[in-house]
Amino acid sequence: MKSDSTDIDESKIVLLQWSNMRRVTAIRRAILKWHQKIERDLPWKEGRDPYKIWLSEIIMQQTRVEQGTPYYLRFVEAYPDVSDLAAAEIDEVMKLWQGLGYYRRAQHMHQAARSIVDKHNGIFPDTYQEILDLKGVGPYTAAAISSFAFGLPHAVLDGNVIRVISRLEGITEPISTNTVQKHLKQTAAKLLDEKAPGDFNQAMMDFGSLHCSPHRPSCKTCPCQVHCQAFQKNLVSEIPKKTAKKPKRIRFFYYILVNDVNNVWLRKRPSDDIWAGLYEFVLVEKSKKTNWSQILKEVPYPLELLHVSAERKHELSHQTIVTAFAETNLLEPTQQSDYLSISRSTLSNYPYSRVMDWYLSDKAVTLNLQF
Ligand code: SF4
Repeated sequence: MKSDSTDIDESKIVLLQWSNMRRVTAIRRAILKWHQKIERDLPWKEGRDPYKIWLSEIIMQQTRVEQGTPYYLRFVEAYPDVSDLAAAEIDEVMKLWQGLGYYRRAQHMHQAARSIVDKHNGIFPDTYQEILDLKGVGPYTAAAISSFAFGLPHAVLDGNVIRVISRLEGITEPISTNTVQKHLKQTAAKLLDEKAPGDFNQAMMDFGSLHCSPHRPSCKTCPCQVHCQAFQKNLVSEIPKKTAKKPKRIRFFYYILVNDVNNVWLRKRPSDDIWAGLYEFVLVEKSKKTNWSQILKEVPYPLELLHVSAERKHELSHQTIVTAFAETNLLEPTQQSDYLSISRSTLSNYPYSRVMDWYLSDKAVTLNLQF
């Protein structure tokens, strides 16, 4: 039966016999046994503190554990509990987040901390729905926090779990369709060990991340091999099936450092675009490569060009940002309200995108900027 244009024919999905409880139990046991051998000591697992688990889950979204762990440790040290995070200034939080990317996560995390203090007297909520209501928390994160911290029976469905289940089930349809998503959710819930949901969720995520990995899954030594439809049908490399990605949008960011006597100009980026809330120099954005003489003509300030940097490409998930920087002197005092005029000595106090940080940190590409 076709339900709508984005759905698929449900009859095409090869369903495992999840009603066959012996089979479900065998897969569950195999994954738990595998996990006992590899269990990793992760700092946020100690004590099942929901605040620390929440911090780690937000930080680790779209981030490898090795990259995210130092950030997690810095956040816990700066804000030992949720009221410390709620009391912090957003610029301070963004500065600590700098370099991790997906900056909206930090803004939402800060808003959620404030709502926990306002609505829950600073006590982390302990129901799935209340956790899901926090800013920046979706079904995956709510399931992870509620099962890890409170032992609630909610199955996580992240990219790793989706890969494991879709291979076990041999689903050859695109995983983004509504029907497949529904099946994945139902299957994850049936497979969940309700006596120890947190441990089982962690085992599934680790199994997907370390064993049933995207490109070189360890099928030869897999304890689920006999149950795996993808393996039995020689379809492992084709599952999970993803829909083709749209081509990335390319944007050209021409940044102008304006030296205003001993100050430089900075502004906070608007909230409706990438890097919202981070600081930047005067920006001229173009849709194609443009030379500096043209760029400077478009700036309504009298500037003397001192130095230009090479171009640098920065890849985001849906966009490619090509950046270049020019350092300039302001030739006459100018009234403007768009930018803060700040002392050079305070430049390092502000949070920046990775491209701004690259420019400010690499003395080889700057002429006379000291900070
Ligand atoms: Fe994943 Fe291979 Fe095991 Fe199937 S047999 S669950 S594809 S590792």
